[in-house]
Amino acid sequence: MSSENAESAAVMSDAELAEAKRYGRLDLACSLADKAVDLTFFGVMAWWLARPLDTWLQRFPRLADIWTLRLAVFFLILLALHLAISFPLSFYSGHVLEHRFRLSTQSFSRWLWRYVKRNLLAGTFLLLLIVGLYWLIWTTGSAWWIAATLAFFLVTIVLGQLTPVLILPLFYRVERLDRPELTERLSRLAEGTGLSIEGVYRLDLSAETVKANAMLTGLGRTRRVLLGDTLLAGFTPDEVEVIFAHEIGHHVFRHLRWMIASGLAFSAAGFWLCDRLLAAWIARGGAAFDYARLPIDALPMLLLILTVFSLAIQPLQNAVSRRFERQADRYALQRTGRKDAYRSAFCKLARLNKDDPDPPRLEVFLFHSHPPIAERLAVAEEPSKEIARPNG
Ligand SMILES: [Zn+2]
Repeated sequence: MSSENAESAAVMSDAELAEAKRYGRLDLACSLADKAVDLTFFGVMAWWLARPLDTWLQRFPRLADIWTLRLAVFFLILLALHLAISFPLSFYSGHVLEHRFRLSTQSFSRWLWRYVKRNLLAGTFLLLLIVGLYWLIWTTGSAWWIAATLAFFLVTIVLGQLTPVLILPLFYRVERLDRPELTERLSRLAEGTGLSIEGVYRLDLSAETVKANAMLTGLGRTRRVLLGDTLLAGFTPDEVEVIFAHEIGHHVFRHLRWMIASGLAFSAAGFWLCDRLLAAWIARGGAAFDYARLPIDALPMLLLILTVFSLAIQPLQNAVSRRFERQADRYALQRTGRKDAYRSAFCKLARLNKDDPDPPRLEVFLFHSHPPIAERLAVAEEPSKEIARPNG
């Protein structure tokens, strides 16, 4: 038995472990199927359906003349088709599977309402992004990918600031933490890190799930730590302290800043690749590639290229994320000095979230943004060493 298998045995009973593995496999299968549906859909659209759809739309007088309007209609039809095709899978993975494993606390109508809300929000947002992107290509020509990278960067910053104050409250009740003795302990922990204790919030996760979670979100003045009510209810103050310290770790090591900077590099690479491949795609029929008249029916190909690119770089992004998580874990251990609470917190998280403590290596490498629980527990057994802290 490897040491990590031994860790798994310590985290869960055999029955719990088998259930977590079953859940992990089905959840992974759903996310793979979801990716396959996306790729197939964009591929079929790009090769066979985009041209006829655009030709049909041009029969409407206003749509024939106003390209921006036709683009918007084209995108909305694409979105509606995509939602229709992917709905069964969304329903299965988001509702059926979560209930089957007793993780969801939502009725079907509540799940459906959230699904509608999420897609309305995402659809509107994507519509603006797509129209903006085309507009940049039409007006800035071959330099569009640089302009798009900068625009995307600005959108990331604005979205980073708005997420905790505008978007999250659309889906969850977010309230300031109202447990004075716990707040007191957490504020002592945050002292000297530049993270204000004003920014500790309770997130009403239990309306949706039994799973526990915590996160650091927001940028600048909207920076805050969110603790799920599921976490606050089921974990001891010592355990909450360790998890909070982990989030402080993300703040201290400026992980969000790194993520945004790497996002900037990735989007530059993605848009540049898109430029080269789109030009080749359009020139395949012998037509010259004219930026100012990039055809609307090139949209599915553009989305296909961006989707393939983001899938291809996901393992790299996940590797960076896992590294950050380990760094935050070590910080939490060192800052609190509470090894026992650290261990019991992760055991509880694994059991509550039915999280396989030791999933296959390849799966972790390709798809996981967090290290497996067995690995995170092993961090507690490392000989403690001074962690170099960045200035400030
Ligand atoms: Zn983390």
